[in-house]
Amino acid sequence: MRHRSLGSIALAGALALAALGGAPAASALAAAPAAAPVATAVVAPSTGARHHVEVFGEDGSIGRADAPAASPYLAGRPALAPAAGDGEVTSLLRSGEPAGKVDVVVIGDGYTAAEQEKFRTDAAAKWQELSAVEPYAAYRGLFNVWAVATVSAESGITGDPDRSTVRNTALGSYFWCEDIERLLCVDTDAVGTYAARAPQADLVLVVANTAKYGGAGYNVASPLGYDGIATVAGGNPRAGQIAVHETGHSLGKLADEYFYEGEDVYPAELGEPDESNISMSTADRLARDHAKWYRWLGLTSPDGGVVGSYEGGGYYPKGLYRPTENSIMRSLGRAFNLPGREAMIAGFYRHAVPLTSPTPAGTPLTRADRLTVDLPVAGTVLTWSVDGRELPQLRGRTVVNLATVPLPGPPGRVHTLTATATDPTPAVLDPTLRPHLTATLSWPTTR
Ligand SMILES: [Zn+2]
Repeated sequence: MRHRSLGSIALAGALALAALGGAPAASALAAAPAAAPVATAVVAPSTGARHHVEVFGEDGSIGRADAPAASPYLAGRPALAPAAGDGEVTSLLRSGEPAGKVDVVVIGDGYTAAEQEKFRTDAAAKWQELSAVEPYAAYRGLFNVWAVATVSAESGITGDPDRSTVRNTALGSYFWCEDIERLLCVDTDAVGTYAARAPQADLVLVVANTAKYGGAGYNVASPLGYDGIATVAGGNPRAGQIAVHETGHSLGKLADEYFYEGEDVYPAELGEPDESNISMSTADRLARDHAKWYRWLGLTSPDGGVVGSYEGGGYYPKGLYRPTENSIMRSLGRAFNLPGREAMIAGFYRHAVPLTSPTPAGTPLTRADRLTVDLPVAGTVLTWSVDGRELPQLRGRTVVNLATVPLPGPPGRVHTLTATATDPTPAVLDPTLRPHLTATLSWPTTR
């Protein structure tokens, strides 16, 4: 990709964030005035891996930088200290078996042994902020939330309240990362060590013990399965929005809809982007080609306005279009737009299933058994069939007494009892996504 050099973006971000005060999201980076250098800059190691990260301004604007994978405040100290309670996993929300759910792992940093209750309170508050946003709110039943405790030697994190404050913490979290005050970086390897303690990690959120606004979104692929890390200030209620935006990338596979005023025209030779929410095509062309978000064109979007093609997106002010004027993929505090919401729901169902049962599929059943299934999402349509023939009288029943199920043929014959659940949500229009919204479970049942 032919982007502006990351170094200059980081610097522009630093300047813009130092000057925040209601600058419009799109022009925040370009409009940055010069800022005086600060003597006590955090000096990251000059070698070692770096990650692309996103920077979130207090006014909702979003920019990019790149940051070291390692924290300069964690050098030489192992993750998972021998302190009592360190690495302990608590379930904040358990909807079902991890294999069939989206597993959110919330890891604390800067909480001492005496502050573990505060950590769990902050972690629960972050989940509340995230899950208050649609489509999370309607799909809470697809999620497990795990809190992984870290025990830090000191309370609070580096860079709070000021640049000269250094604190010894389990994950080495720090403000002023890459000279950007609100960029809250962390040691990503240490995060991975703690995330591995949870039964499964599809989404990772680091909650730092600070009320100072800030966070970061890391684009980082882990062998554990997550492909992003969001860091947020645990005591700052607006910081939860950072996690919402970040999950647009990790769960929804969505592109950024913001852009830099000073950036060039999107180079056509790069071709059509893979993401579902940016395109080289205008609305007319999307409609003609049946491409990207064409099914949503002309409909009123939850983030305001009508779905169409708005020029600017994917960091370029020209040559790429986005579906709406200002969704959360452009500015924090906004709703997902209709195509974004569709992508998020599809993303939830890549990790979670619309039908589960305490009786594993394939378990042999007899007429003496009573079978229970769970539908985690309200409105899910449930049907039952025997040997492929639907039993209309059982439609919607989540508890089935096998004695009442008509099983044809002689005693001893084995039939296949099948439950099929489908989420009929009108928020997903793309037929290629619909198979994710359906699940079946079958059990051999002896008459
Ligand atoms: Zn982003």
